[in-house]
Amino acid sequence: MTQLTVDIGGRPGLDCRGFCEYCYFKKVKESAPFGCQYCLPFQKGCDYCSRGVREYYTGFKPLRDVADEVLLALGRIPDEVTKITISGGGDPSCYPWFIDLIELLSNIDAPIHIGYTSGKGFDDPEIAKFLIDHNLSEVSFTVFSVDPALRSKYMHDPTPEASLQVLEKLCREIDVYAATVVIPGINDGQVLNDTCKWLEDRGAKGLIVMRFANSKEQGLILDNAPIIKGITPHSPVFFKDMVTDLNLRFKMKINGTPLWDSEIRSPFAILFENDLLEKLPRVTKNATIVTGSIAGPYIEEILQKCGFSGKVTILPKEIACLITIDDIKEIDLSQISSTIIIPGRAFVHDLEAQKILSSDGIDRTLIRGPEMLTADGETSMGMTREEVLALEMNGISDLIRLINLYGS
Ligand code: SF4
Repeated sequence: MTQLTVDIGGRPGLDCRGFCEYCYFKKVKESAPFGCQYCLPFQKGCDYCSRGVREYYTGFKPLRDVADEVLLALGRIPDEVTKITISGGGDPSCYPWFIDLIELLSNIDAPIHIGYTSGKGFDDPEIAKFLIDHNLSEVSFTVFSVDPALRSKYMHDPTPEASLQVLEKLCREIDVYAATVVIPGINDGQVLNDTCKWLEDRGAKGLIVMRFANSKEQGLILDNAPIIKGITPHSPVFFKDMVTDLNLRFKMKINGTPLWDSEIRSPFAILFENDLLEKLPRVTKNATIVTGSIAGPYIEEILQKCGFSGKVTILPKEIACLITIDDIKEIDLSQISSTIIIPGRAFVHDLEAQKILSSDGIDRTLIRGPEMLTADGETSMGMTREEVLALEMNGISDLIRLINLYGS
């Protein structure tokens, strides 16, 4: 499958008709780079952890530039393009040359996929027909709620009725994966129920229910918490149960992120597969595994089933990939071993973390773990259970190999 990705640029909040009330990019402040897996060993900060993570773009790219990039990419692709994905920091529905762009891309004669849109830029319901006629085959569409008043208030959609009409027409003709950030007391409960029913009745393929985050521990690492004062997000356990219940009551697939895919039973579906757990390598050494509070208990259980007697250090940060140096500073050095394995995607600079973890005079080895140990609900939406299990087998086997290679 040869995929062509078309990056239109744009800035979250600025190139999507203003910030949604719940946008994770709201109130982001300028701050020093975090450090990450891509940084050079002696330099904290690279393009990814200083710009990419904040989705810093200067604005939408002019159509001419996008067209040039597409032509260049086509020249490099030896095979026929089988899928075109439109992506960027801004919202494609707000791209000033959106119609021209779609006309241009439809000449390539491959299905077009819009990786993300809020639909806030769709003011005329007729655009749906235009998109369907010009090869749009799949879209991820943020709905928030099917109540136009709520879309207007929380997404600042100036034409919520038109956007919903577009969504409705697309649901009936192409693959629509809707998404909603769920804010307690605003669009959960009956409102969420109504949204699910509306989407299912119109033929949406699925809904990704995203847990609202409002604190640093919940993932707002860009000095921008709280996003909405006075709102306490659902607990992970409550959220997981809510997603399970929704998925049971509706026929379309409903997944949650960070938790949970109740059909695949991921993250860490492998825990339900004893034969696969037995196929994992046995742990023969000791190391301290650092992770976040959602993955922690699962990882501990899996590793213990493989003979691990070391320690899993579970930090208050809920999502392991969003661990930063502030979290590393909280680790009790008297409780860790001489080898520490941190999540592969943690936002820390290895040298800085290694120094902090050796600041009691004991020289410790810091190792970065695998990129992914499992799939969150957003990732698993387009995967089969076998694919998720294979991903978990690979990731966890790699983690165990690292423990056995570098542990004591
Ligand atoms: S449309 Fe998306 S990126 Fe833009 S403000 Fe809303 S949540 Fe943020």
